[in-house]
Amino acid sequence: MAKVAINLSTGSLQQEEIIVGIDLGTTNSLVAYIHPDTRHPLAINDQGRGTIVPSIVHFPAGQDPIVGTEAREYLLTDPQNTIYSVKRLLGKSYQDLGTHAADLGYKVIDDNSEGLVKIRVGEKFYSPIELSAEILKELRARAEHALKTPVNKAVITVPAYFNDSQRQATRDAGRLAGLEVLRIVNEPTAAALAYGIGLSPDEEKTVAVYDLGGGTFDISILRIQQGIFEVLSTNGDTYLGGDDLDRAIINHWAGEYQLATVLFQNAEAQQQLRLLAEQAKRHLSTNDSFEAAFGDTRLPLTKAKFNELVQPLVDRTIASCRQALADAKLTQKDLDAVLLVGGSTRVPLVYDSVSAFFQQPANNTLNPDEVVALGAAIQADILAGNRRDVLLLDVTPLTLGIETLGGLMDPIIPRNSKIPTKAGRQYTTSVDGQVNLKISVYQGERDLVKENRKLAEFDLRGIPAMPAGLPKVDVNFILNADGILKVEAIELRSNTRQEVEIKPQYGLTDEQVEQMLMDSLTHAREDVSARMVIEARTVAEQMLYQVERFVAKNGQHLTPEEITQTTAGVDKLKQALTTQDKDTILKAVDELEELTRPFAERVMNISISQAMAGKKIL
Ligand code: ADP
Ligand code: MG
Repeated sequence: MAKVAINLSTGSLQQEEIIVGIDLGTTNSLVAYIHPDTRHPLAINDQGRGTIVPSIVHFPAGQDPIVGTEAREYLLTDPQNTIYSVKRLLGKSYQDLGTHAADLGYKVIDDNSEGLVKIRVGEKFYSPIELSAEILKELRARAEHALKTPVNKAVITVPAYFNDSQRQATRDAGRLAGLEVLRIVNEPTAAALAYGIGLSPDEEKTVAVYDLGGGTFDISILRIQQGIFEVLSTNGDTYLGGDDLDRAIINHWAGEYQLATVLFQNAEAQQQLRLLAEQAKRHLSTNDSFEAAFGDTRLPLTKAKFNELVQPLVDRTIASCRQALADAKLTQKDLDAVLLVGGSTRVPLVYDSVSAFFQQPANNTLNPDEVVALGAAIQADILAGNRRDVLLLDVTPLTLGIETLGGLMDPIIPRNSKIPTKAGRQYTTSVDGQVNLKISVYQGERDLVKENRKLAEFDLRGIPAMPAGLPKVDVNFILNADGILKVEAIELRSNTRQEVEIKPQYGLTDEQVEQMLMDSLTHAREDVSARMVIEARTVAEQMLYQVERFVAKNGQHLTPEEITQTTAGVDKLKQALTTQDKDTILKAVDELEELTRPFAERVMNISISQAMAGKKIL
């Protein structure tokens, strides 16, 4: 195993090559780099447009997407084609989103499956990965423009609680934007690095990172030892942030100045008031009073009133802090520092409340909007080998994973993971009564296993016969410090198990590793398209299977007209499946779903009422 993948992956790394650090945020994104002369991290401000790029993508009809402040203008005038908060959807299925999908201004496709969500824009379907890639492309373009040099490598940050699937989605977005993602770093880790914590090997510290952004709140407790950042606990609220502070102001004004009727009828007035509320909030971070004109109405707000309005929201964040501390089994006195991250920590009440709770002044000396991106730039610099004082760890140079439906690569241990490491995922059968499951282990960065390197294959036999989807098979990858990979598969109901040991680096030269990495970048577009077609086909096939089974079972509850319509929808989907076009396929899936949902609900009600009727009530 090599010391740090950068040596393997970039035999061609030139000393001056720039690796950027990217904060891909829910509300705002930024890109930063280490200035070659000062050696300090700096957020990129291209053409004086500011360092912050709102994470919003607008699709004008028939033209290339627009990202950032310009895209934000369309939130009001063209909400269906203007996508915001896409980070919330990354790596998630429709089921994961639950009721929150309805709150978004654009259309998230309910394909009623556990597959990853898609967003419909006009006649096209986008995955959150593609939409995030648009934001990353914009950041990359700004960096290239400002630095006048090509940018091909990046470190990207994610929340500490992101799971494997969300991290992988972030990597894929980077790759799609033409960036080799050298590492995915936790946002609180990046913040600590920006504050210079964890840069010297003999340092031991415990810190709390309080991050209040636009729509989310995260508190993380980290232990830093010998350059290793361990997340002791995380807590927070994925639906609490600066937007809620704005809403508290709007509600106050609406109540106090009888604005309800104006707002109810007028979307433009709503938006205008929202902007005024945000302006008021920002103003009160450094002033004691604010006043705006809204039509003929004067809208005043004092800092004292604002504090009173948002106190309950701030209290909720403090309750999360208390829980995080308890989960880490620590008290306030164990913390060496409390770091403030996110634009909303500029609110003085937040600063005061956090400092009071942790019994020490919180640290806010760095710009809270930029601190995560600055830390990512420092991490990039470490990976580039520019900081010899920082301890380097063994990492695995290529992704390890297994084959799933349609010949897709499902990554289990991503490349550049520190070793030793352990990771796993749960799988199930796809056919009723299936008793064997083939596990094929691959190495490489491509989306289709046929482009990757096959390491091993074995059958897990003796799974008890059950309907498809019921068996639970855990597949675990354990990579030890010597680079030996143990793959074990366990069917949990019967405790059937099977394992193999492999040496993934055996017979692989540095040049081959480098070639594999290069290929994954040059083929990123076509790979992601191929993956999306396969995923769309899988969704379509499941849908057809379900609808046909449904009609066979419940045909008597449907009118002849409904049956004709359904048959037409099924035929259309089958026709769509003869193409290799994911938009055509997903559109047919979407239509069939819309068509059959009312029947399914009706039949469900019938069977529930029958069940009720059959039940004896004592
Ligand atoms: P995210 O990490 O979720 O992308 P940010 O950290 O960029 O978000 O935070 C954005 C939020 O910070 C917005 O709600 C914005 O209104 C708020 N914000 C920015 N500046 C200030 C300020 N001076 N006072 C209060 N809130 C602010
Ligand atoms: Mg953030």
